[in-house]
Amino acid sequence: MNAMLPRPTILTIEPYAPGASKVAGVNRITKLSSNEGAFGPPPGAMAAFIETAAELHRYPDGGSTELREAIGARFGLDPARIICGAGSDEILLHLIMSYGGEGTELIMSAHGFTMYDITGRYAGCQVIKVPERDLKPDVDAMLAAVGPRTRMLCLANPNNPTGYLLPQSEVARLRAGLRDDVMLVLDAAYAEYVTDPTYDAGAAMVDSAPNTVMTRTFSKIFGLGGMRVGWGYFPAHIADIINRIRGPFNVNIAAQAAAVAALAEPGWVEKSIAHNTEWRARLAAALEAAGIRIWPSEGNFLLADFTTAERAKAADAALKARGVIVRGMGGYGLPHCLRITVGTGEECNLVADTLSAFMHAV
Ligand SMILES: *Cc1c(COP(=O)(O)O)cnc(C)c1O
Repeated sequence: MNAMLPRPTILTIEPYAPGASKVAGVNRITKLSSNEGAFGPPPGAMAAFIETAAELHRYPDGGSTELREAIGARFGLDPARIICGAGSDEILLHLIMSYGGEGTELIMSAHGFTMYDITGRYAGCQVIKVPERDLKPDVDAMLAAVGPRTRMLCLANPNNPTGYLLPQSEVARLRAGLRDDVMLVLDAAYAEYVTDPTYDAGAAMVDSAPNTVMTRTFSKIFGLGGMRVGWGYFPAHIADIINRIRGPFNVNIAAQAAAVAALAEPGWVEKSIAHNTEWRARLAAALEAAGIRIWPSEGNFLLADFTTAERAKAADAALKARGVIVRGMGGYGLPHCLRITVGTGEECNLVADTLSAFMHAV
């Protein structure tokens, strides 16, 4: 019998390792491993979700029309150039499958978001991971890595898992240094959390530069990771391509309703930003005071550096013993680090107390 085999490149892909959500023997879990918002889902989104129950036999609106209009109104964008997806991961998949593929190269920064690597390989691209300086994307090195077969460059800004925000002037220099036929994908999953006033999540560059796209998500500040809703903002010619190949009903009826309601939730984003800005700083200060190096973050998480993999592992165990789940960074080549989501004040204090005691003991 002949063995059934996938395309050879598929076997080079390691499955995405999601943040854990359980610890054996511990009942009360504090999940700080997936950068989900600190406040649960918006109440209005929960109500809208429940309301769709009686409509579950209906196909969703394939164009996510109401949601695209709500996004357009909220962010001042043309709804015709917005496309919604089952998470921004789906948007990324369609972009890379449409414009990447066999014989092309996709460039990412060494510690960029793993999905660029997984999806790039899936599409058949050669994925080039460009070395960083001090966990910062190196614009000159990325530009130097561009070759005739390069079709895409994916940049998460702020980046996950480092939290680093590439300054706007550097993003502009990156775009200006790319050929027009190299797509720049600006993944702004954490845009709302950024406090730097010069930051542009990407919309201005989509409108002013060639072949630049922005992806966004409802999974982080809007608290809807379980619903799988994301979106992208594109030049018209790219929106046209993605609309040809996406699933005709790619965003389900409950997800569309919940996302529309999340956008309408009064004060939600403001409250979440204020909380994150305050507690990101408080948690960072407490961990630094305990002797842990914290990388600067503009997201809703911190990258805590324990210098050695052994110490990071022991810190992870100390947290787990108190039911706190954070994200190990071995898969990102940073086994000496843990990524910790900024949770509620109580959760941040639990992390700070646990890690202070841990650092005292080692
Ligand atoms: C969380 C995250 C996303 C969002 O993915 P969804 O599929 O929308 O849930 C995208 N990019 C980065 C860098 C992220 O951290």
